[in-house]
Amino acid sequence: MNVLLLNPNRFRTPPAPPIGLEVLAGHVAQDGHSVRVLDLCFSDDMYADIDRAAETFRPDLAGITIRNIDSVLYENNEFYLEEIGQLVMHFRNKYGIPVIVGGAALSADPAGILEYLGADHAIAGPAEGVITEVLSSLQKGQSVPRLIRGFYKPYSRSLRCTAGIDYPVYTREGGIPGFETHKGCSSSCVYCLEADAPVAFKNPEDIVREITWFTKKGYNHFHLCDPEFNEDLDHALSFCTALKQSGMNILWTLYMKPGNYNQKLFRLMRETGVYLITLTVDSFKKCPLYWDDIEKIIFNAKTNGIKISVDFLTGFPYEDEELLKWCLDFFRRLQPDRVNINTYIRLYKALTITRIISKDPSLASCLKGNTDDDALIHPVFFNRIDNDKLRQYIGDDPIFRIDGAEKGVNYTRS
Ligand code: SF4
Repeated sequence: MNVLLLNPNRFRTPPAPPIGLEVLAGHVAQDGHSVRVLDLCFSDDMYADIDRAAETFRPDLAGITIRNIDSVLYENNEFYLEEIGQLVMHFRNKYGIPVIVGGAALSADPAGILEYLGADHAIAGPAEGVITEVLSSLQKGQSVPRLIRGFYKPYSRSLRCTAGIDYPVYTREGGIPGFETHKGCSSSCVYCLEADAPVAFKNPEDIVREITWFTKKGYNHFHLCDPEFNEDLDHALSFCTALKQSGMNILWTLYMKPGNYNQKLFRLMRETGVYLITLTVDSFKKCPLYWDDIEKIIFNAKTNGIKISVDFLTGFPYEDEELLKWCLDFFRRLQPDRVNINTYIRLYKALTITRIISKDPSLASCLKGNTDDDALIHPVFFNRIDNDKLRQYIGDDPIFRIDGAEKGVNYTRS
């Protein structure tokens, strides 16, 4: 089959290379199909580029990856699904080929997004574990369910195919290559679409081989695409040890969650070129040990000369403003390099926080955005502390930033 894989993500502050699509392209090619990746990130005319690819490549099927439904920020929110729905219709109406959608955004509401887009099939979760069977069935004319559950093949060799991704343009525009050490997250944060997602680790030697490939092309600055690097301490240590033994001289930045660390991990991270950690923190019903872990992670990062930025989500139902003041004082005492605060919680159908809020009618007054969309496809946020009030609390302390007030991500701001 001729399989055309599309990246419609045109977010460019900074642009993010579609690593999931690269891995999928590698698996599709390995199965003997002809695959072409069409990256629309820098396209001036998406439909002209699609038509050119369709006429020269003659695809039997189009796969579209969806990273986010919207920009997730309340202020100046950008909604992406409408444009993606138009792309789906373009393929179906003009070329009459089936369209499969997938990507991280699908976990918000796989069935709802499939219906909204009008695609033929949706793969929710990692597509590499199911794509062989799906393409084989379609090729034989056998029926395939509209909604398919994806999975990751544990310790599968990385089959990443970067053809079609213009890395020189990405880096010129401020993007950097990424790599993954695992999929999934065992934590249960009530607001996160990665919560309780099955975890599968990649072989450290395979990851190092992947990074080596990029360094040979002249890239030495990387972003870790794991949900949180320290999902498993032993695996994080094994990866850092393999990276150190490779002798590569790179810089990399990563996300961590409170827990699963020791001093050796911080030493190895420093020795292998980690220059920035973003620590994910929230205020939802925490035990005191949670805050102990945060304190020690910030301390260890600073003593190892690694910058540390905190992404802090707060303003959950039933929290009072005394808790917010306590958290701000906590960060003022620890002095991480930066604390990005978000008090607007994006609600998705699949989230635990959505179920908590929907059970209590007294919380309805805190809903903002497209509150008439019960499916929560169009952005709806829960908010108790608006940005004006937040500004009063943080004052002019330079470590605090209100999320969304400026464009970019932590590594571009650092
Ligand atoms: S630890 Fe991070 S990735 Fe995991 S569920 Fe919580 S916010 Fe999501």
